[in-house]
Amino acid sequence: ALTIGIVGLPNVGKSTLFNALTKNQVLAANYPFATIEPNVGVVNLPDPRLETLAGIFSSERILPAPVSFVDIAGIVRGASEGEGLGNKFLANIREADAIAQVVRGFTDDDVVHVEGKVDPKSDMETINTELILADMETLEKAIPRFEKELKTKKIGSDVLVGAQEALAELQKGTPLSASKVDITPIKELGLLTAKPFIYVFNVDEAVLTDAAKRAELEALVAPAQAVLLDAKIESELIDLDPADAAELLASTGQDESGLDQLARIGFATLGLQTYLTAGPKETRAWTIPTGAKAPQAAGVIHTDFERGFIKAEVISFDDLVATGSIAEARSHGKARIEGKDYVMQDGDVVEFRFNV
Ligand code: GDP
Repeated sequence: ALTIGIVGLPNVGKSTLFNALTKNQVLAANYPFATIEPNVGVVNLPDPRLETLAGIFSSERILPAPVSFVDIAGIVRGASEGEGLGNKFLANIREADAIAQVVRGFTDDDVVHVEGKVDPKSDMETINTELILADMETLEKAIPRFEKELKTKKIGSDVLVGAQEALAELQKGTPLSASKVDITPIKELGLLTAKPFIYVFNVDEAVLTDAAKRAELEALVAPAQAVLLDAKIESELIDLDPADAAELLASTGQDESGLDQLARIGFATLGLQTYLTAGPKETRAWTIPTGAKAPQAAGVIHTDFERGFIKAEVISFDDLVATGSIAEARSHGKARIEGKDYVMQDGDVVEFRFNV
């Protein structure tokens, strides 16, 4: 599943946010495949369509699409030189699909800022510099190994060239995501600055409803996406039942929690979408890349489904709701039989036919 690594300076609210994330686990405990690890927090992608479908099918349970968050890498200036928490903490983040950088925006004289003042722009530069340095170190170690492996033909020259080009960009101070280097051949290195970034501004409650301040922070990171949240409120929300949580959110001018926003923006940043399956046992959302074709979508359920794919019966969510049942959708010609070239649409309700 989709995994997002969390980084940030110390004392910016990472633990507070992560605590809210891990308490959220109870929701995820429903997943048959869930192996819950202490350094993983899960947020379900909010999707009101699932409730509606579960009603139509009288499903016993609902399984939304999960977004996992791993670890907390606290990074200080000089971390890449081993002064701070450093590389050990970056190991898990290397495997993440994207990085969420938590940036302090809240003011609180009781909470020390490691750099002496609350300055989101300067904090982001510190973190970005450390991530660039960490990638340079990874490449400087990898390049001599690649040179040997190229001699023995264990790797192709594209790997060494990719690594050298990436290092040159980083030496100029360019994060790999902003460079033109093709890092596909060196994907296994898990270079941090090549990953998509999401910025999480942990701000005072008053800022949440301050349009000018919001716009200012969003502009700071554009074209990357920003989520503004108050980590303290997030950790309170987790302990409330849905009605009380909605009330607290409304009192801060929000209609969605910061964690929910983070899940949605994670999906959008990584170009993902969901399709839906529904029946009496469960209604479930499945994660696929935007543009995935029907067999690939089937493969997310089971690899055998992809191999043995025959066809898919597809009803759009809206058509299913309008007709009220699969049988009615069929009799109104709203159930389409699609083949292996069908490009999945967000919210397709699907039943696959396959050979095993
Ligand atoms: P970490 O070092 O990044 O993991 O930061 P923590 O989550 O441990 O937070 C550091 C301190 O800041 C703790 O005392 C938190 O209670 C406090 N803190 C975290 N988020 C907020 C916030 O949104 N507002 C305020 N006022 N304090 C916060």
